[in-house]
Amino acid sequence: MKIIKTIKELQQNLKTQELVEFIPTMGNLHSGHLSLVKKAQTFGKYTVVSIFVNNLQFGPNEDLNTYPRTLVEDIKKLEALGVDILFCPNTDEMLPTNQVDLTFIKIPKVSELHCGASRPIFFQGICTIIIKLINIVKPTRIYLGEKDWQQSIIIKKLFQDLNVGVEVITTPIVREESGLACSSRNNKLDNQTLEQAALLYEELESAAKNIKHNNWKEILENAKKSLLDKGFKVDYINLIDANTLYEVTSDTKELRILAAAYLNKVRLIDNISVSIGDYLQDEGT
Ligand code: AMP
Repeated sequence: MKIIKTIKELQQNLKTQELVEFIPTMGNLHSGHLSLVKKAQTFGKYTVVSIFVNNLQFGPNEDLNTYPRTLVEDIKKLEALGVDILFCPNTDEMLPTNQVDLTFIKIPKVSELHCGASRPIFFQGICTIIIKLINIVKPTRIYLGEKDWQQSIIIKKLFQDLNVGVEVITTPIVREESGLACSSRNNKLDNQTLEQAALLYEELESAAKNIKHNNWKEILENAKKSLLDKGFKVDYINLIDANTLYEVTSDTKELRILAAAYLNKVRLIDNISVSIGDYLQDEGT
């Protein structure tokens, strides 16, 4: 595996590649990230992984400085999988400090919902860096995890709206045995809190099983209360149209519950699919 830190060297190495599979990450790699790499390898021969902790997506009081960085271990994991290139630029390479009035890409409305409601610059930071990375790597396909459901829908919309011409492949959430979604931020939790964190998914599973068109508000309210009782500070727990990210309407074909909650100040997100057939049935039938 080639480890490349500059855009120029990366582009020299990619010049002769016709098909490039691309997996953007912020590093501290776990089984969720590696599942994206494995998926990419089933599609194409040449895989590029990027590791870049994107400061544009962190708000002033968020955890940019303490975000886990484990490059040496990450390299070993990617080498073991036979990745072709690791692109790991520093911040100055991606966002030169002499750059003034950086161009931002912002998708209105959907970027203000769910995670965007409490993280106002989050999706604009992501969209801006993703477009930069796409223009640098020029991949055929990009691989994203369903763990960040809102992010994946927003990036699909971005590519469609701007005719980016790169296919987006999404892959299912990889979980620990406890049910907790694998996340780099799980490393910030001690063993006891990790056990507690798994209750987020338990709560989502139970809500997804019981939620119906005529009880959804009550089910979400109860899930929220239950998470509060279990020590979480809940940011949101919302039932949405999985494809638009808006509220469910009569046109909705797929449903999802998205949630974000803090445990010991560590932000956890998760989501789960809801069967539309079950949702449309009346309670007790
Ligand atoms: P991150 O490093 O957190 O920016 O994530 C990089 C990519 O890995 C994103 O597309 C995430 O959705 C994906 N990802 C993170 N955690 C998981 C997981 N537990 N299962 C599947 N994909 C994941």
